[in-house]
Amino acid sequence: MSATTTLTLTGARVIDPASGRDEIANVVIEGERIASVGDDSAGLRLDCDGLVVTPGLVDLHVHLREPGGEDAETVASGTASAALGGFTAVCPMANTQPVADHAGVIEQVKQLATAAGRCDVYPVGAITQHLAGERLAELGAMAAVGVRCFSDDGIPVASAQVMRRAMAYARTWDAIICNHAEDPALVSGGTANEGELAARLGLPGRPHEAEEVMIARDLLLAEGLGARLHIPHVSTARAVELIREAKQRGVRVTAEATPHHFSLTEELAEDFDAVYRVNPPLRTRADVEAIRAGLADGTIDAIATDHAPHAPEHKEQEWGHAPPGMVGLETALAVTLTELVHPEHGEPTLTLPQAVRALSTAPARSRDIPGHGGPLEPGAPANLAVFDPEARWTVQPEDLVSRSHNTPFAHRTLRGRIVHTVLRGRFTVHDGALTDAADPDDGDGEPAVSGQLNHTHLGPVTDPPPAGPTPVEESMVAGAEASAAQEGSSA
Ligand SMILES: [Zn+2]
Repeated sequence: MSATTTLTLTGARVIDPASGRDEIANVVIEGERIASVGDDSAGLRLDCDGLVVTPGLVDLHVHLREPGGEDAETVASGTASAALGGFTAVCPMANTQPVADHAGVIEQVKQLATAAGRCDVYPVGAITQHLAGERLAELGAMAAVGVRCFSDDGIPVASAQVMRRAMAYARTWDAIICNHAEDPALVSGGTANEGELAARLGLPGRPHEAEEVMIARDLLLAEGLGARLHIPHVSTARAVELIREAKQRGVRVTAEATPHHFSLTEELAEDFDAVYRVNPPLRTRADVEAIRAGLADGTIDAIATDHAPHAPEHKEQEWGHAPPGMVGLETALAVTLTELVHPEHGEPTLTLPQAVRALSTAPARSRDIPGHGGPLEPGAPANLAVFDPEARWTVQPEDLVSRSHNTPFAHRTLRGRIVHTVLRGRFTVHDGALTDAADPDDGDGEPAVSGQLNHTHLGPVTDPPPAGPTPVEESMVAGAEASAAQEGSSA
């Protein structure tokens, strides 16, 4: 009904693991979609010389806290934080208040994300009602509204029988089960990695075996049923081995590691600063090295943040009372580049294309998220991250747009920074700042490409802006619903 705005990102290094592309190229965006990747150029031009263009980043594991925890984060603030981190899709966990254990909360979170317009959101549904570990949640009803993954994340499902039944149901929709992998009896009361250091500090420990026992159990159950299993926040060397062996046996398992677990160690507990308290806890240098090896050989598929905002009045308590968790959306890319791709000491863990795969392509594939993770090809939705791989910046907690500032990377100087984030042809972030045009409810419905006409990088205006809001919702759930709709029964 209206003309389509065309924009060319010129001269960037385009890295697209899904197609194997890694070359200097132009990316032409027409309306919401990619028109071409190569030598062509059309419409407005945005100089991206020296920058890297990749599929938008995808985070399998975030906590957006809404409903119920709005003092720490909201869907709007969390997706703004995601956009600034280069993410175009995130998967919020179910431990909200009320719990996302039925379709109503799932729909509420998706609507809030659509209204904010900054990042696609694919909510994770709870495995059990109220995360109590006993009766299964309404898995069928949630699958019917597009949920592809179920997790009681934060709380392990202790009962092997409940877990096995959940896997059997989830298999009906070929959906994924993700269990918080810490045996609750073994970690009871623990606040730090069990070992010599925790003993010296007088902190009750969480043994690495707690994680490994739970992962081993879940791998065996998934193997027996042919069910899909995703292991969150892998933190121990033996856990990496278990997953590696299971993959070799053909178990349908994927795994994620967090930036904090592949870069920080337990020694940070020494000052009792609760910003470093997290579950599973920061471990040893040997564990960090094993996680890096797991990322390098693909045993660990994805980098996920476990973005866990906590308001200062909660987190700034003494170690034993502060809730576990760290924010991570705005630092994930830079920590990955700094620690894994361009380390100051030692050999790199990942090449830049491998890092992009772990931050975008692999998580999108592992969670069946349509339209994200590439391939960047004509007709695909223009969901893109554009970053400066050389930019150095120092993390200032108060500058984070997340409503919470509990970052373990405070005052660290990192390498690599998001310049632009593009969600279906709209800039959600432009020149490192959030755009207003990202909000489809801003009244004028103009896409950000037309909102940037005053920018000095841009050439002459060739097209009038189209009208009407972006159909975010449609593409958000289309692929997932198609498969879920076949099965309407609820657990
Ligand atoms: Zn979590």
